[in-house]
Amino acid sequence: MTEPDKPTNFTRQAHLAACRDPVFDWENRQDFEFASRGLIHRPGDPAITDSEGAVVWHHQAFEDFLHGDAPETVHPSLWRHALLDNFRGLFRVTDGVYQVRGESLANVTFVETDGGYVVIDPLTTVETAAYAMNLLYEHIGRRPVVAVVYSHSHSDHFGGVKGVISEEDASSGRVKVIAPEGFTEWVLKEQGLAAEGMASRNSYMYGENLAPGPTGIVDTGLGQAIEGGEVTFIEPTDIVGPQGGRLTVDGVDLDFMYAPGEAPTGMHCYIPKHRTLHVADNCYMCLHNVYTIRGAFPRDAMQWADSVARSLHYEEAEILVSGHNWPVFGRSGVRTFLAQQRDGIRYMHDQTLRLMSHGYVPSEIADAIEFPPSLARLWHLRGYYGTLKHNVRGIYDYYLGWYDGNPATLDPLPPRDLARKTLEYMGGADTVVARAREDFEAGSYRWVVHVLDQVIWAFPDHEEARELAAAAHTQLGYGAENATWRNAYLSAAQELREGLPATTKPPRNLRDVTRGMSVLMALNALSVRLNGSKAVGARFVINWRVSDSEEACHSELTNAVLINRGGTDPDADATVELCRSALGSFVLGEVDLAELERGGARILGDARRVTDLVAMLDHFPAWFPVATHDRKFGEC
Ligand SMILES: [Zn+2]
Repeated sequence: MTEPDKPTNFTRQAHLAACRDPVFDWENRQDFEFASRGLIHRPGDPAITDSEGAVVWHHQAFEDFLHGDAPETVHPSLWRHALLDNFRGLFRVTDGVYQVRGESLANVTFVETDGGYVVIDPLTTVETAAYAMNLLYEHIGRRPVVAVVYSHSHSDHFGGVKGVISEEDASSGRVKVIAPEGFTEWVLKEQGLAAEGMASRNSYMYGENLAPGPTGIVDTGLGQAIEGGEVTFIEPTDIVGPQGGRLTVDGVDLDFMYAPGEAPTGMHCYIPKHRTLHVADNCYMCLHNVYTIRGAFPRDAMQWADSVARSLHYEEAEILVSGHNWPVFGRSGVRTFLAQQRDGIRYMHDQTLRLMSHGYVPSEIADAIEFPPSLARLWHLRGYYGTLKHNVRGIYDYYLGWYDGNPATLDPLPPRDLARKTLEYMGGADTVVARAREDFEAGSYRWVVHVLDQVIWAFPDHEEARELAAAAHTQLGYGAENATWRNAYLSAAQELREGLPATTKPPRNLRDVTRGMSVLMALNALSVRLNGSKAVGARFVINWRVSDSEEACHSELTNAVLINRGGTDPDADATVELCRSALGSFVLGEVDLAELERGGARILGDARRVTDLVAMLDHFPAWFPVATHDRKFGEC
């Protein structure tokens, strides 16, 4: 492990300036009162662990350093937010409504019914969800779960469901599982096909390979960190459509409002009995993430603002809770908060489109837009999660896509070629590194990481460039008010110095989500693994018969594309008979053909065709290089 860098004078001065900046209302302690109100129990154990004793959630590691004034290595505004996210444990929001906060990236909310509990958003993994249930049972009482509500389709709000109920609880009708329309489809779209491309980016954004501490991860904006463990999935039993509606569950009314925004499908839930409004992830105590830097399609900012605006119709609401951070208490406070959150999104949206209509390109717009003082001074619109800079690029992309309209950028050289040519014009890598060192000394860290990125693209093993780039990324990380930017910069510094993480085990196991896919969907994940070059000229058809669900599909390889359809093809070259979980493992590349057959799968017909297919499939690495630009396959 490398010795952590010290903050430079520029970084320290920037933090001192932030402390004096009138935009920050340091005297306002309202959030500290809201974040701590109603605490019933704060667990004293050092960590939450999985069944094998591995830590999935740190307590002690964060508590060891999260107190007092901001260290010189953390932006003071982010430090304040990290202190607030460290209020954790079981809270009484109001009589009959409880939350476990700070024991996961997300919040779980419990609503008492006549004889049990409704669980809104069962966290990310089984381990943290079961931990939260135990806190509830121990301190409030053991009663059955009568319903689970998924507020939206992101895994930090459903992945722990099997720590709360079993599959059988749902299929037998004992427990309702309530979700917005399109829920399963979007879960699979977002967590399915694109998941393999997201893991490394996700680890950057959430600092998953950084140690908690003043020179590492301090927060993620939404919560302290994202937990490890097992992500699970149970299909909804009750769907709330775009018209919303009231459901009475075991004596308690739940008013649902369909509210896409932060997620492509989502809903708000108002509990009239407790005058409490749950707004999913459409509002939290930091700026929205219209685009998320882990990678996702940009969200529809207008739709999002509209969902927040429509929530003002719940005029009686006295408490607002959401999927992350702490509640808002008080009727006028709730209304003001909702209106300001709406205005934050609309301002970003409208000003981006205004500048776009003058012909400005995304990087210009990102540098130009600032909130008016009335919004900038609001703690809950500070950019701890989203930033104005990356959101406005997302909004541009939502309307106009990645291309800025300038034909000079229409077909750029790939980055390695571009870098080599640029360096040649600039007098070579060593000259550039020497100039970059001067700019580092002058505090121009944004420029330094840009120009050294060219050197690293051209010469991935240029040690001096990597070390200096790591130093500049570190100062950008220390200086970032945004938690996800800090995590990304510090992760880049780590990769530049130490290479990729040694572990090949992903921090969370998503296998259960893949198991939840239809057979056809799962096979489409197989199509994504097909290496087009290896498949040139091959033609065959393979039937898939899934023994336990009696589903059947077939895959036709033609034009180096694997097309999957329902039903079997009587003229198929081969038929594979296997169980659903074996198919899931196979499409994920976790088992090969021999293991599949040892596990009971049977291949009928021309088995060589199945062997051919397996030989054409790529295996994706647990991590791919992000900052080091190491050569990939096929490159010389
Ligand atoms: Zn969330």
